[in-house]
Amino acid sequence: MLVLNRSNYHSLLANQDYMSRGQYLDFLTCEAQALAKVKGEWIEEPSDALLVGQYVHTFNDGTRPEFISLHPEMFKKDGGLKAPFVVADKMIATLQADPFAMYVLEGQKEVIFTAELFGCWWKVMIDSHNIEKRRNVDLKTTRSITDHAWSEEIREKVSFVEKYNYMTQAALYSEIERIANSRPLEDWLDFYIVAVSKQDVPDKEVISMVDPERYKIELINIRSNMPRILAVKSGQAEPEHCGHCDYCRSQKQLTRAIHYSEL
Ligand SMILES: [Zn+2]
Repeated sequence: MLVLNRSNYHSLLANQDYMSRGQYLDFLTCEAQALAKVKGEWIEEPSDALLVGQYVHTFNDGTRPEFISLHPEMFKKDGGLKAPFVVADKMIATLQADPFAMYVLEGQKEVIFTAELFGCWWKVMIDSHNIEKRRNVDLKTTRSITDHAWSEEIREKVSFVEKYNYMTQAALYSEIERIANSRPLEDWLDFYIVAVSKQDVPDKEVISMVDPERYKIELINIRSNMPRILAVKSGQAEPEHCGHCDYCRSQKQLTRAIHYSEL
């Protein structure tokens, strides 16, 4: 099995050997797309939103100059930064100007942990890990920290934390880190999100994700989903197609006309 480091963490081989939060959520969204990604048959073009998120992370892990040299697409022809990255610079400045946010982000940066859980090996990379202060911290960029958005799943408006399944992440990261560091059952570190918004005047918040009872529910859900996911990932079961994601649309072949009332 691949020994992980920062340069191979996101590689195809790493995703084949390990399960991750992103891959887990991919399988819940569309098994066919998730499997195609694991096999390297479907590669998502990095969007500006993803690049902005990665760029803002570079201020936390100290790799900003390398990131800029690797991503000339951040710049316009006249040499100026493209609009989303001008905002990204404001987001970084917003965090840097806030002593409490900077204090919470103190710790070891981009720490990788692996552990066996629910029938497979998992990998997590924690943005800031601080064992003395007993906390793990994830840096999040989001359109808005306070807006609520519609969730199909529970049919109501929810915060960005619920919308993007960040409680699943909090539970999973806390549990993997606990197992990797051989602490007793449920001896989880505090988990925080440091959030910064992509608004012209960025908002910011330090959000406590500490909720052991919720973690237990999240972990039970993950455990119950894993047998199916592992069967699909290993080729023992055929993947279901969701029918409407980018991958499914790319695979779509027409065999009949549909009636307009079916739309
Ligand atoms: Zn799909």
